[in-house]
Amino acid sequence: MNEQRRRSTAPAEVIACPDCDLLQEIPPLPPRAKACCGRCDCVVAVHPPGPKDLPLALTLAAAIIFAVANFVPLMDLSVIGRAASTTMAGGALEMWKQDEALAAVLIAFCAVLAPGGYLLFMLTVLLGSRSTPAPHWVGEMLRWASHLRVWATLDVMMLGILVALVKIAELATVTPGIGMYAVGILIVLIPAIAVTFDAHGLWQRIVWADGEQPR
Ligand SMILES: [Zn+2]
Repeated sequence: MNEQRRRSTAPAEVIACPDCDLLQEIPPLPPRAKACCGRCDCVVAVHPPGPKDLPLALTLAAAIIFAVANFVPLMDLSVIGRAASTTMAGGALEMWKQDEALAAVLIAFCAVLAPGGYLLFMLTVLLGSRSTPAPHWVGEMLRWASHLRVWATLDVMMLGILVALVKIAELATVTPGIGMYAVGILIVLIPAIAVTFDAHGLWQRIVWADGEQPR
């Protein structure tokens, strides 16, 4: 650890263990490395694998697929003698018209607003932080990210899609459309963004509000 610190020009950083609160110095980590707490062995810092621009590439790809998933029919519906297709937002609107307000709000929030908001948020942070030093508003956004992350998880999105399918299946026979395959790709891409995003490295490049430059 000491040798590594001497070799690098970047200084060690002090981080509190999320489990036991022990403050410890973390040296700059090589790719794929992680630092564990000296007392309880909890992981305190991770350097994600892959090139620096990988999270941005994944987020751009996910944003395009998200647009496809929302504009291309998610499912084809057939009610005796009548066939129709609907998108995720269309499904929510249909639920609203059927007086299923709770299902409509769940679908709209979980399957459209939460993942869409998450992708927009990540795009803003990743594009805003392409320069070094990164502007201080990126730091403000990162602070919010920890609160928003809960709402942008895959479970939330899956819940929305599940509610949509179950509720709509009560009204009609459902066959998956192209949009459903797009959702399948999103289910892989969204966690990949989180795995490759280096929040730790980004924090070290942010200009503080008082104008102090990163060391
Ligand atoms: Zn600890």
